[in-house]
Amino acid sequence: MVEESALASTGGSAAGLEIRQLTKEFANFTAVKSLDLDVPTGSFFALLGPSGCGKTTTLRMVAGLETPTSGTIRLAGQDITYDKPYRRPVNTVFQSYALFPHLDIFENVAFGLRRRKRSEVERHVNEMLELVELTTQARKKPAQLSGGQQQRVALARALINQPEVLLLDEPLGALDLKLRRSMQIEIKRIQTEVGLTFIHVTHDQEEAMTMADTIAVMNAGGIEQMGSPDELYENPRTTFVANFLGQSNLIDSTIKSRDADLVTLDMHGIQVSVPTARSHADGDRGWLGIRPEKVLIGEVGEALDAPGNTIPGGVVTDVSFVGVSTQYLVRMPWGQELQIFEQNTGRRRLFRSGDNVELSWRPEYAFLLDAQQDANAGAEEDA
Ligand code: ATP
Repeated sequence: MVEESALASTGGSAAGLEIRQLTKEFANFTAVKSLDLDVPTGSFFALLGPSGCGKTTTLRMVAGLETPTSGTIRLAGQDITYDKPYRRPVNTVFQSYALFPHLDIFENVAFGLRRRKRSEVERHVNEMLELVELTTQARKKPAQLSGGQQQRVALARALINQPEVLLLDEPLGALDLKLRRSMQIEIKRIQTEVGLTFIHVTHDQEEAMTMADTIAVMNAGGIEQMGSPDELYENPRTTFVANFLGQSNLIDSTIKSRDADLVTLDMHGIQVSVPTARSHADGDRGWLGIRPEKVLIGEVGEALDAPGNTIPGGVVTDVSFVGVSTQYLVRMPWGQELQIFEQNTGRRRLFRSGDNVELSWRPEYAFLLDAQQDANAGAEEDA
């Protein structure tokens, strides 16, 4: 790790990794387009996006496995854009583990230290095995371990080199769902313990939200939006983010007025409002966005939780009971079907297809997006 004084002397900020206008063109395809990114030291950062959006190419440029067409990569104040991979204080953990099959676990983890002729190999390896909870497996060969255990060996083997940044390229992709979930928590614990910067590439939004403190959502070679999981989920700025991270109802609306606090809209003849801080649309139209679990569903005339915000005229068209919640589709008078998720508290009756219902939501949960954007962007990606 670079100490603060060293950072100051190199003119670098506390920001660990700074990527500026990074572009990668292959023969006839631009995989990464003028990408800007700041990853603060010590953060658990996720690059999230659908297949082909340029995540792996970005990671490979940071690792030095791919040469940028243009742009710069700085780490702890040093320009590393064209440095050889082994000269960078960066290590990568791949989905395929890439362990040495003929070496036992201890020797796999010791490999980097032995190659660099470091002292106290045994102590360092034992510390690492303890960190990843594999002390008892030290003398086994990789083939004798489960997938999750092998991935922990790969993690220990990378961490023992004390990189400035650890890159994780879909490290859990080969594991089944249950093991994935427990490894997500395990890797997060390890990151907190070692305090190094982790950059995790994934196309799985739940994985990114579970693990990372900051997520950059990538689309078509660029960053759509960056922030904490709850910021991105609660206040998406683009239709792509609204649809790729969870689900959203997006309703065509006309903007009637704007003031410091509120934007007032006409949503198919019904007046609704959105906080100005959650409005990301210029012009006189926009997509009013509301998450399915923020929408309340009730009988006609029933007093719902958000007084004065009743949206009448809904008809239930589909009911899916999924245990913890019930997911409704409700057709509105303007023909659009809205999604509503209601938690099964046991206190409300289930509606049936064909029931007449009214909807409501608190204005502070709504957001407003640019009418020029595709309302289906990000919805059908292979997330
Ligand atoms: P995935 O999750 O599927 O790996 P990704 O977001 O990591 O997707 P990249 O692997 O970075 O995407 O690839 C981005 C685009 O660049 C893809 O369309 C891919 O086909 C293209 N690409 C990647 N490597 C090369 C290459 N060596 N030559 C030509 N095109 C490439």
